[in-house]
Amino acid sequence: MTTGIIWSDRYPEEGHMLLKERLKPAFNYLKTMKIFENPNIKLYEPIPASEEIIQKIHTKDMLVKVKATGYYEIAKLTAGGCALAGELIWKGEINNAFAFTAAAGHHASKDFFWGFCYINNAAVLVETLKEKHNVKKFLIVDTDPHFGDGTWEIFENDENVFHLEFHGGGPLDPKFGKNSVSVPLPSESRDEHVLYAVEKLLEPIAENFGPELLIWEFGHDAHHQDYGAWQLTVHGFTKIAKTLMKTSKKICDGKLIVLLSGGSNENVAKQSIYGIISTLAEIPFKAEDTGYLLEQNTDIKEEISNVVKKNVEKVLKNLL
Ligand SMILES: [Zn+2]
Repeated sequence: MTTGIIWSDRYPEEGHMLLKERLKPAFNYLKTMKIFENPNIKLYEPIPASEEIIQKIHTKDMLVKVKATGYYEIAKLTAGGCALAGELIWKGEINNAFAFTAAAGHHASKDFFWGFCYINNAAVLVETLKEKHNVKKFLIVDTDPHFGDGTWEIFENDENVFHLEFHGGGPLDPKFGKNSVSVPLPSESRDEHVLYAVEKLLEPIAENFGPELLIWEFGHDAHHQDYGAWQLTVHGFTKIAKTLMKTSKKICDGKLIVLLSGGSNENVAKQSIYGIISTLAEIPFKAEDTGYLLEQNTDIKEEISNVVKKNVEKVLKNLL
């Protein structure tokens, strides 16, 4: 597979202050691991998203507020980079892509934004491909442990975009939209729990919906040493990447774009991004987890498994 990596030296300079510190170490680690010497890897510079597309997604009032934060220009470049990943796939230059981001996107909606998000990166990608390449159907899979409320609202009534959203904690009951499902998993969930939910739900939903592209919102804040819910490891992230690769090959010719979402721990960023990019490009790798994870009490483990299984069953029953 040929994998495109979208990166700008402006991201670690101008990105959101809680997200940017991880970027340079993660990018430099790819160099250390000689990723860019592999013929399967191509590196691209982003170009800013067009005002026209941004205004299709967000209200003018909201954009005035975003501009006041000082992050508008870098968010525009980031969203443009995500859109570029899609264009490169449709031009046949690459098969899949990993887009670094200076700000996340899934908490940016039509008229609100929060949580280090200013412009909805996935929405800009979707709109660009709809407009320029006549792509019709998209499946967004969000495994950032925070609820992707912005993306949820934007695509709530869009029958061409399916939003499969997983998040940690909250009311532990799945929520259904017209073409979307939000699956809460207990905060203490580990690799096996999150993987189980993704594996059980992704493929049947994708088979049923028939997307032309899979978009993965990947937040390593789900790592046990990072700031979000769940207790995942680097191995968990790479296994999720493998599951997405498998499904994208089966359903949409391997078309898969990973958008970097939350996370601030630089060691976690280094290992997990290296592992995911290697998985996308099908390069052998040995990513290491960054720290010791305490054994989980068997009772808690089972309790979590039961909630996860129950939610997966509910979703399958409701959707298929
Ligand atoms: Zn998050």
